[in-house]
Amino acid sequence: MSRVYNFSAGPAMLPEAVLKQAQQEMLDWQGTGMSVMEMSHRGKEYMSIAEKAKQDFIDVMSIPDTHEVLFLQGGASSQFAMVPLNLLGDKKTVDYVNTGAWSKKAIAEAKRFCDVNVVASSEEQNFSTVPAQDNWNLSDDAAYLHYTPNETIGGVEFPFVPDVNVPLVADMSSTILSRPVDVSKFGVIYAGAQKNIGPAGLTMVIVQKDLIGQAAKHTPSMFDYAVHAKSDSMNNTPPTYAWYLAGLVFAWLKERGGLEKMAEVNQRKAAKLYAAIDASDFYANPVDVPCRSWMNVPFTLADAELDVTFLEEAKKQNLTTLKGHRSVGGMRASIYNAMPEAGVDALVAFMQDFEKRNG
Ligand SMILES: *Cc1c(COP(=O)(O)O)cnc(C)c1O
Repeated sequence: MSRVYNFSAGPAMLPEAVLKQAQQEMLDWQGTGMSVMEMSHRGKEYMSIAEKAKQDFIDVMSIPDTHEVLFLQGGASSQFAMVPLNLLGDKKTVDYVNTGAWSKKAIAEAKRFCDVNVVASSEEQNFSTVPAQDNWNLSDDAAYLHYTPNETIGGVEFPFVPDVNVPLVADMSSTILSRPVDVSKFGVIYAGAQKNIGPAGLTMVIVQKDLIGQAAKHTPSMFDYAVHAKSDSMNNTPPTYAWYLAGLVFAWLKERGGLEKMAEVNQRKAAKLYAAIDASDFYANPVDVPCRSWMNVPFTLADAELDVTFLEEAKKQNLTTLKGHRSVGGMRASIYNAMPEAGVDALVAFMQDFEKRNG
């Protein structure tokens, strides 16, 4: 069996060492005679797995005591609703920055609950950039400001952390754990696990403790941060196996030198790929250079008729899932933490060779 370099945007690659450990522990977790999947989430074995995963996540992200960590379900998409339901309080308005497809979804969902003021949008630039904060039209009395640090589909990343006087909320689904962040600046950080954390089915939420406990009156209890915080994310059966696998990933990150080290490698991987694109007239990336994503690199071929051939030949070289999002076309290489640098090197070599033969 040979494993491929999988450039999927999500669910995405997991570290091979993590998969091997999971495989080794699959039938018998540490002498218990059962798989983690078969354990009671309230038993002491599983509790130890869950607690270690949480602590490793806190350590690796340097999460301060002021913030709570929740292991939830429902994906980032459920957070699009949970954020306004939990943070609106007695306010009427919330501020959102619109930088692409995921921002738009978050905005549409928030509109079900309150007035949404879009402080800035790059839609007129076809979402190829991030609007500088000087020109934002902030509300006087917003409950929070929401933004998407990395737009997974457009490959557009904020080169700065917004500076506002209200709780800052970030959808970090495709950028969490890719580099250090100062968690103390954020009211809420959330991320679906399937990009840079672990398997689908788990959603990580980091929430400032003093924002918990003011959910709107008819909020379903499963949508209330307070309910999950009080029960250590065990108000109901959590996604136990995904939580366990995420824990293995957190431990893997710690062992590899933490997020500073990840940032170094991720930046280098992205730089190699953008350099290859920029050095050629055959490939192009439309994103404003300072806003180019380290995680999702969209690119087009000079002749879109060659897209199918490119994908077929890439697959033969074990370079898979490079097709761009249906709304953008072209290609997209997602290069999260688990994508080895050798995978990016192989992609660059293939791209150069393909251009030589077809350019
Ligand atoms: C993938 C993604 C989502 C959607 O995540 P689900 O877990 O599928 O709900 C939301 N926001 C961003 C930035 C994403 O990359």
